[in-house]
Amino acid sequence: IMTLVIGCILLGMILVGTVVLFIFTQVQGSLLRQQKSFVSSVTHELRSPLASLQLSFETLQRPNLPDRIQTKVMGMVERDLERLTQLVDRILLSARLDRGILDYTTQLETFHLKEAILKCVDRAAHMDRHLKNRLTIICPEHMKVRGIRLAFTMIFGNLLENAVKYSPKDSLIEVCAKRQDRELWLSVKDQGFGLNKRDQRKVFHMFHRTPRATKNAVPGTGLGLYIVRSMVRGLGGRIWVESEGVGKGSTFYVAFPADVVISRDQSY
Ligand code: ADP
Repeated sequence: IMTLVIGCILLGMILVGTVVLFIFTQVQGSLLRQQKSFVSSVTHELRSPLASLQLSFETLQRPNLPDRIQTKVMGMVERDLERLTQLVDRILLSARLDRGILDYTTQLETFHLKEAILKCVDRAAHMDRHLKNRLTIICPEHMKVRGIRLAFTMIFGNLLENAVKYSPKDSLIEVCAKRQDRELWLSVKDQGFGLNKRDQRKVFHMFHRTPRATKNAVPGTGLGLYIVRSMVRGLGGRIWVESEGVGKGSTFYVAFPADVVISRDQSY
């Protein structure tokens, strides 16, 4: 087991090494200043799970370590590795989005919107067993969308998971999908933490987290909405948030151009 844990820690370090190398190769040309701030944000984000891994590593090397402590430290190693992997995945994805490497046009498919929404709800259910009881979905039954299902799932899934993460367990969440003018509008409304004017702008910036999120130790990387915004823009859409202020809930909106919508239902 010890070999496995040490192996995992080494794997984590190799992962981090790869990312740092990847980032440094990006630092060139006119984007130098922007890239430098990216590197320093990433380094900052990587430091805490890495420091924690180092501590676990040292603890596990102690002779006669009680089983109870060993199990606890292994749990910590698992959490840190999970966090590192998620961070690395998201950083690589945002770097690819920034460089316009993802080609959206080749992956178009037609899918049933409500079904895709329900899949995201199933996936978010592990965060709250009673999610379905407090969730309202307003979506025309027969609405079909021509787009990239994976992108939709990532965008919508992230907004839904945030609504769950940043609101009280028994509060209501409302999801709405409709055709508005020549666009498809999606919204996710919660009765949670809410956002002041400054944060309504900044939540889409890389690594930005509100003081309330960090104070309440809600787990997160501050990369989700940055990636979501890059994807929405890549698909030719817009994203914004409305909130009456801190403590008053938030509504995130996404609007896509209408040509991604195909409706087989005459009433829409
Ligand atoms: P993460 O959730 O991993 O921190 P995100 O990029 O998804 O990263 O969100 C950035 C920040 O925006 C969060 O840390 C949180 O402070 C704030 N935020 C996101 N969604 C909501 C929401 N529904 N209500 C209140 N604050 C939110």
